[in-house]
This record gives sequence, structure tokens and C-alpha cells, in this order.
Amino acid sequence: MTGDNEEWLESSGLRTRAIRAGIRRSPEGEHGEPIFTSSSFVFDSAEDAAAKFSGDVPGNVYSRYTNPTVRTFEERLASLEHGESAVATASGMSAILAVCMAHLKAGDHVLCSHDVFGATIGLFENTLRKFGVDITFVPLTDIDAWRAASTPATKLLFLETPSNPMNAIADLSAMAILSREMGAILAIDNCFCTPVLQQPLLLGADLVTHSATKYLDGQGRVLGGAVVGRKSLIEPIVAFNRSCGPTMSAFNAWVMLKGLETLDIRMRAHCSNAQALAEWLAEQPGVRSVHYCGLPGHSGHDLATRQQSGYGGVLAFEVEGGRAGAFRFINDTRMMSLTANLGDVKSTIVHPASTTHSRLTQSQRALAGISDDLIRIAVGLEDLSDLQVDCERGLRAISVA
Ligand SMILES: *Cc1c(COP(=O)(O)O)cnc(C)c1O
Repeated sequence: MTGDNEEWLESSGLRTRAIRAGIRRSPEGEHGEPIFTSSSFVFDSAEDAAAKFSGDVPGNVYSRYTNPTVRTFEERLASLEHGESAVATASGMSAILAVCMAHLKAGDHVLCSHDVFGATIGLFENTLRKFGVDITFVPLTDIDAWRAASTPATKLLFLETPSNPMNAIADLSAMAILSREMGAILAIDNCFCTPVLQQPLLLGADLVTHSATKYLDGQGRVLGGAVVGRKSLIEPIVAFNRSCGPTMSAFNAWVMLKGLETLDIRMRAHCSNAQALAEWLAEQPGVRSVHYCGLPGHSGHDLATRQQSGYGGVLAFEVEGGRAGAFRFINDTRMMSLTANLGDVKSTIVHPASTTHSRLTQSQRALAGISDDLIRIAVGLEDLSDLQVDCERGLRAISVA
């Protein structure tokens, strides 16, 4: 099998690497990436088996250890994130779990921003606490609060930026300095930006996690996740994956490879649709305010401009009429999908307070800015004019009430 990972790739652009990094060709000479649907691999001899089992000779043994299609996805994503190494996982949650299982032990302490993905809060609160790992949640953008909450046992700092759905922005370079002072690992969930818009490792983060289910696939087909970083931090995660099994399937890796090929052009299109829709919504009667870091009035706008190469596809806004108004708006839209998912070519609409953020207490929601009249749209790639027409249906439902 020959690979396409020649040295010219390293200096090539992101679009090129998204299409060509990590390719392996079998002697059949296929142009597209093959899907290796094989649970195990055969050896040339008993000596070859012994060498590959011991790790003295690299090579495939069993697909829970390595699989060539999954390796291609890992190498391609590592290249896009400017990471030395990557490991693919069955889902975004298993990526975060694998980071914790590989790098934490009983007695350790984790700092995590308030407004992370709901299941991430559950993982820290319900699962890791059972194994003696302590967790403190802190406001995303308040560096002094992160410092004040740290203890000598703090081993991991975990955050998402931009936050869901308010688009609060953390200063990644400042967080990297802080994590180094603490001697802790800084892990960033880069799901919202993808490496097209933000490369946290270049800003000093130690690890990047992904829910590949979202923009990396981008078309709502399969679940997947990944962790990217330097080899010394990825190797323990690979070891966890090998013995505990939350690996990515070859088929899902192949779907993700097809997703990566168009990631750059899709992300740019998500950004321009979201920017235009945010600006338009801000002008509409019935909309109280719009939260999108691409708007100059947003508190995270300047930082996002410095740290990201685009503002992303997710926006939130408050409407007149409280919770009833938000429900009427959502119920009267016809095109946007009413689902909590995001990162899809299909636009999705959701009422965060009663769905994605319903597990928070009223006061936690208030702290995160999740009011009852807030609506989130994860802007897809439909025509902007049709998104506006759909929002006009929602706005009419509010104005006639
Ligand atoms: C969806 C999501 C996850 C979890 O990913 P799954 O693939 O659903 O397990 C983690 N973080 C963020 C920001 C997400 O949106």
C-alpha cells in the first residue's frame, strides 16, 4: 500500500490537505479512499504476527487497534488541526471520555466552562464524579474565575468557544498561558469552528476534541469523534481506545473523509449565510436582540475576529412575547428542521431553555443568558432568501398574537 503523504503536502493549503492528506492506495490502484471493512488482518508469517503484536513492526492487527480507513481520517484531521497525531472515536462524547480516562485519575480536579454541551456536563457531573474526579464549572470568559477555582489537583481545563448558543468567546492564548501556570492540560471542543475557522493547537491548547457528527460530516449521516494533539498526549488515549473499544468504524471514517473534502467551502457558506441572517434578524420588528459573534456589537466580536477566520454557523436571538412568542415563532416556521442537532447543511431551529439547556436550573440558565424567549438557529446552506421567508412566518406568528 502506498500513501500520498509526501512532503509537498505539509506546505500545502488547508483545502488541499482536506482532500489529499492521509490517502493510502492498495495495489489495486483505486482513486477514491477504500473502506477497509475487515475486523482483523492477516500476517505473512508467525514471525510477522509476533512483530506486529509486539509493536516492533507497525501494521494492522485488529480494527479496534488500527484500521487503514480510520487512519486516513486521523491523519487528515491531524493535518488540518496542525496536530502531531489524532485518534478517532465512535462519537464526540467518547472523544471527551477518552481524554478524561487517559489523563485523569481519582483525586484529580477538572475546570470546565459553564456553557459546554449538555452531555459533557453529564459526563463530568455523573460519570467522572463516581470515579473520584472532582469538577468545578466556571464562567467561560472570566479568566480570574478560572484561576480562583484552580487547586493543586487541577489537571484538565476544558471549554468550548464560541459557546452554544450565545457565541461567548474565550481567549485561547490567555487560557493556554493559564493552563501552563497550573501544569494542567488545556482541551478545546472545536466542534463549532472546525479547523477551518479556528486552530486551537496553534494558539497553545494541548488537545482539541471534535464531535465529527456535526460539521466534519456536515450532512447528518453518521456519528463520530476525534482527539488531536501532540503524540505524547494522544498515545495514552489510543491505549484507552484499544483496550476499552470506543473506536470509529471504517464506514463512518470514510463518510467523514468525504465530509472533510468539502469542509472549507461548506464552513465559508455556513458563515456567510449566518452573517447575513443575523444582520437581517437584527433589523426585524419582533426580534429583541441577536447574539452572533460576527455582529460588531457582540461582546466577543473583536476576540473572534483575532482568533477565528470566520464567525461560524450558529446564532441565537430573543423575540417578543416571552416563551409563548418563541414557541409560536418556532411552530410557524416550515422549512427549518425542529431538532437540537447542528452542523448540518439543513438549517435547524430549537428553543434552548426547554431542550438543550433544560437540565440547567433557572439560575444557571440566567447566568448563561438562556432566557425563555431565546431561539437558536444553526444556519444551513439553503438559499438565504428562503431562510428569511421561513423566519418571516415565525415573526408573523408573533405579531398577530
Ligand atoms: C454534539 C456535540 C458533542 C457530542 O458529540 P456526539 O457526536 O453527539 O457524541 C460534543 N460537543 C459539542 C459542542 C457538540 O455539539
